[in-house]
Amino acid sequence: MDITLVQGDITEQRADALVNAANSSLLGGGGVDGAIHRRGGPEILEECRRLRASTYGAGLPTGQAVATTAGRLPARWVIHTVGPVHSASEDRSHLLASCYRESLRVADTLGAALVAFPAISTGVYRWPIDDAARIALDAVLQATTRVAEVRFVLFDARAYAAFESLL
Ligand code: ADP
Repeated sequence: MDITLVQGDITEQRADALVNAANSSLLGGGGVDGAIHRRGGPEILEECRRLRASTYGAGLPTGQAVATTAGRLPARWVIHTVGPVHSASEDRSHLLASCYRESLRVADTLGAALVAFPAISTGVYRWPIDDAARIALDAVLQATTRVAEVRFVLFDARAYAAFESLL
């Protein structure tokens, strides 16, 4: 598997699947979630609503992942995963690792070869970027998957530098 790093906006990436750092409601939010729904259009939200009604009435659990159409985005699918809120008192790194692992598992079921990830949980959910980058890279490197390229799309220079120095 190739691991590549890009600094930029994930909604502009051509990929088979774009991963969304969603919240458990699946009904949209701020940050990367807001950008994906804004650029992708209403089709994504409609499918999220259907998933809520059919399967995730209590919300998508933290660490799990589910796919929808990518609407107008330059990708075939969006894989929504719910990162953990960072906690100083409790180690939730297994849940953050699970987001990456489960997203790749879903990508395998779709047959996605190129999957783009944001730095999950490092925005509103306050995970320190250096620690989040280490967990993300470890999880991806340890995953058993047919995905050929994992592309981390880092929004700012600091996040990019954190991933680059570890890689
Ligand atoms: P979370 O709730 O999981 O913390 P956020 O969307 O608040 O999710 O932030 C996750 C990361 O995504 C942050 O590092 C943020 O800077 C970044 N981000 C925000 N918008 C975009 C975007 N359009 N493309 C890529 N990354 C983004």
